[in-house]
Amino acid sequence: SPIPDYLNKVLDRVRDDTSGANADYIEALAKADPDKMAVAVATVDGQVYSVGDDDVEFSMQSISKAFVYALAIEDRGLSGVLAKIGVEPSGDVFNKLSLEAGSNKPMNPMINAGAITAHSLVGPPDATAEVRVARILKGMSMLAGRELKVDEAVYEAEMKDWHRNMGLGFMLKAAGIIECDPAEAVKGYIRQCSINVTVRDLAIMAGTLGNGGVHPVTGKRVIPSLSVRQVLSVMTTCGMYDAAGDWVSRVGIPAKSGVAGGIIGALPGQIGLAVFSPRLDKKGNSVRGMSMCEHLSNDMGMHMMDIT
Ligand code: GLU
Repeated sequence: SPIPDYLNKVLDRVRDDTSGANADYIEALAKADPDKMAVAVATVDGQVYSVGDDDVEFSMQSISKAFVYALAIEDRGLSGVLAKIGVEPSGDVFNKLSLEAGSNKPMNPMINAGAITAHSLVGPPDATAEVRVARILKGMSMLAGRELKVDEAVYEAEMKDWHRNMGLGFMLKAAGIIECDPAEAVKGYIRQCSINVTVRDLAIMAGTLGNGGVHPVTGKRVIPSLSVRQVLSVMTTCGMYDAAGDWVSRVGIPAKSGVAGGIIGALPGQIGLAVFSPRLDKKGNSVRGMSMCEHLSNDMGMHMMDIT
């Protein structure tokens, strides 16, 4: 059929680009097969297409930040979340030890300081990592339409090197931004990053964002439309690490990437998409993944600033 044929052509166009390198700071990611690649799209009326290594599981990493932000809004309300986390792009590396001058809040929910805070706003204030992660797994599994699990090897590997994120946790605690035990917030955040998905799962999850919060396959409203608007706004301004401006002008689709090599994109009223290829550029974005998204955007006229 024409759509999978087209998607295979997208893979073929980027296949030979072997530039970049796997993330090396998490051992389990460094060992992933760098040649794997896949692309999936989910239309807002529930058609899902995927090609390539679409059954390979990889950890969500920072892609989880977008969905956990939505859960934090659900549990604390938008104003409760805005009181703790800003919405300004930082233009800085994702794990920068920084708070916004003046307000002392993390700049936005897509950098680690903001994401650890968003994690701490899911569930009851004094919840353990276990309780929060159970809630997050339930929410994400519902979006994916199957039961998602934490990749324990990825989690263990990242916990061995949790000092920087723990530094953020202590900083947030000292600033009065997180209320719970910072170690529980950081552990839970690292577990949320270690949730395994395929591109198919991610495309369906992104499809819910593209469909204003109504699940494209089940037709049920699962995220309030105001939350979706908020999530897509921060994905647009802050979703691609410190390459957000380049991304929004070249590709023009609200997106979020993760260091395992996944990227999701969601275009309101149209589509959710996901790509996977582990080699990253210097800013932490999948090299072939970004090219695939650029092709999709150009070929299908998906740049949000274009009139269609
Ligand atoms: N778990 C990773 C970290 O906090 C997420 C990195 C990412 O995908 O940006 O270092």
